[in-house]
Amino acid sequence: MHLNPPVVMVFAGNDPTGGAGLQADAQALASMGCHPAPVVTAVTAQDTIGLKMFQAVDVAILIAQARAVLDDMPVAAFKVGMVGNLANLTAIADILAQYPEIPSVIDPVLATDRGDDLTESSLEEAIRSLLCPQATLLTPNSIEARRLVPEADSLEACGQGLVSAGARYVLISGTHERTADVTHLLYGQRRLLERFVYPRLPGRYHGSGCTLAAACAATLAQGLEPVNAIVQSLDYTYQTLRHAWHIGHGQALPDRLFWAREDDSEDPD
Ligand code: PLP
Repeated sequence: MHLNPPVVMVFAGNDPTGGAGLQADAQALASMGCHPAPVVTAVTAQDTIGLKMFQAVDVAILIAQARAVLDDMPVAAFKVGMVGNLANLTAIADILAQYPEIPSVIDPVLATDRGDDLTESSLEEAIRSLLCPQATLLTPNSIEARRLVPEADSLEACGQGLVSAGARYVLISGTHERTADVTHLLYGQRRLLERFVYPRLPGRYHGSGCTLAAACAATLAQGLEPVNAIVQSLDYTYQTLRHAWHIGHGQALPDRLFWAREDDSEDPD
């Protein structure tokens, strides 16, 4: 029998490079056997070097997109990326709260990896008070984690603070830390649960955080237990970066379909 793939509803912005945002999520989800249901929260204009401008969509069309699909398809997981503004964040938090049994991965996107803001106003407080309580898994990078818990004096305290705010698991990615290797820290049950260490890759990448969070949503939608889902997603993301493409003049774009390339006998190393 031909089984339907799990549906993952993605709330994210469009990135015309195809490196980050909705397309990153859709590729990662499809690559991992899920059907992406993309709800557009914002439209960005950017290249692989920098952001030109962005505009959040009106909250009414955001809600209408989500409602149309939720009333039509069985959604197995939610993934939230760029929300764009406070009205959109609040609407998404309301929708997630209506489906407490559906796992949700929340990537608290505040800025591009090059440092350009992706929100119209400060969202840190609303992420803590409205989105953390809805998060099965929150996936900040270390810069976002420090911005979300400014009173914390260590990354450890940031992780604990976000778990206290209501996120069941918090995975802080360590790409931006000045360390030889890249260490990702997983918090849950009020403690550090795991440290995941990967060799540092030489390039700079656009869309790595989106890829990781979408892969986590895919594996949770497939029914994997959270720690196992995170391990598989980190490995998948690392492979997409190892196979990244230099298509534009700036950052490299992860190849989320690396395993499907016919000429892949050539290892990138
Ligand atoms: N979503 C959108 C629409 C973006 O443009 C970006 C970064 O430019 C992100 C999310 C976050 O990207 P990353 O996965 O590189 O953290």
